[in-house]
Amino acid sequence: MKKFFLRVLIIFLIIFNSACGLTEKDNFKGKLAFFVVDVGQGDCLLIKTPNDSYVMVDGGSQNEEDKLKYFLSQYDIKNIDYVVATHPHEDHIGNLDYIIKNYNVKKIFMPKVTTNTKSFENLMEAIRKKKLKISVAKAGISFELDGVLFQFLAPNSLRYDDLNNYSAVLKVVYKDNSILLMGDAEKISENEIIKKFDVKADILKVGHHGSVSSTGENFLKRVSPKYAVVCCGKNNDYGHPHRETLELLSKYNVKVVRTDIDGTVVFLLDGEEIEVYK
Ligand SMILES: [Zn+2]
Repeated sequence: MKKFFLRVLIIFLIIFNSACGLTEKDNFKGKLAFFVVDVGQGDCLLIKTPNDSYVMVDGGSQNEEDKLKYFLSQYDIKNIDYVVATHPHEDHIGNLDYIIKNYNVKKIFMPKVTTNTKSFENLMEAIRKKKLKISVAKAGISFELDGVLFQFLAPNSLRYDDLNNYSAVLKVVYKDNSILLMGDAEKISENEIIKKFDVKADILKVGHHGSVSSTGENFLKRVSPKYAVVCCGKNNDYGHPHRETLELLSKYNVKVVRTDIDGTVVFLLDGEEIEVYK
């Protein structure tokens, strides 16, 4: 009798598990998924189009390679089609050589700026070996993938003092939903962007890990997001996100999602509604 109950229990567990698996996959089907990947202090964002193409925007620091690999296996990410390296700082490009080496990346977008760090050299080496041609990321360039529009709003100038302001800023539009990814762009770049582009978006990945150097009040008012995403590590050396940024977001009733507190977060967008999974 005991054996019988045990068998029933096992069969029940198998059915229950596979049913759960199905529901989870069904949730993602036909929707745009926006993954905010917890890679400690750094940025890593991944967009899955409704037809399962993947665009990775930054890949985090090499010190946090294990976190990225864990995420990729957890969500069973098999293909990464396009890569955007917002700007050549290590906390953004540190793992992109790994991605280029291990995935069948078709295109890489980068702003026209170089630096002489090891991580930048590693990335360039991986690009060369795969015979990839770099597409320049700058304001006015756009591409479409499965009905999703990816539009670069920055950089707008050829020269900046700070590498952060070379950040490729990307607006992702899917039907009535939109996401604005700022890289580490600071107020100088924000002010150039609002002169030229409609920045209104549901989700704002704030610039420079929530530093006070980014997310000006006028800019935030124009974006007018429901959600703000801050990518930063627990107890990081920079005090990110800065108090001023958090106060401003709270003043405008923006819901804040933080990788240091929430870990990896997934937004599911159907073109109208947005669901958030922490
Ligand atoms: Zn950064």
